[in-house]
Amino acid sequence: MTEPNTAKIAALVRQLLVELGEDPDREGLVKTPDRVAKALAFLTHGARIDKRAVINEALFTQKTSSMVIVKDIELYSLCEHHMLPFFGRCHIGYIPDGRVFGVSKLARIVDMFARRLQLQERLTEEISKMVMEEIGAKGVGVMIEARHLCMMMRGVEKQNSTMVTSSVLGVFREHLATREEFLSLVKTR
Ligand SMILES: [Zn+2]
Repeated sequence: MTEPNTAKIAALVRQLLVELGEDPDREGLVKTPDRVAKALAFLTHGARIDKRAVINEALFTQKTSSMVIVKDIELYSLCEHHMLPFFGRCHIGYIPDGRVFGVSKLARIVDMFARRLQLQERLTEEISKMVMEEIGAKGVGVMIEARHLCMMMRGVEKQNSTMVTSSVLGVFREHLATREEFLSLVKTR
């Protein structure tokens, strides 16, 4: 996918400011269209990454069949309904099938799927599928706890609500005990 034309986006943002009743030429706003264009290009660039580039490094061969848990991976994304941020933490657990990922790679997978217009549910599934299919894990569980600015800034009584989503595949789906082990390990602080 080609990179977005930031000059074109900046012109649209300038027009947006006018429509919102602002003066795009006042001092504080002069550079805003450019900044917004660059920020949006960055915040959506995960959709333009070739996922093979993320997979193609740092797979370690390791003989273990115990559960690997990586907790509290920071997550920042944009909800596709409002183009407003949602943010929180992602927890990933998997049972390796001969190979394990480096922790930084799991974080890069999360970033790749988060940096685009997203839904939390789909983000959770995409991460779990990638871990399952690309590592060849025996099972995987992904849980995301996130707060959505589209709810927090607009609604009332929703300021403190956290949305929790999870996706389990393989043995995490088939075996209740494995799933429960994952959930209890993720919950302990
Ligand atoms: Zn939203």
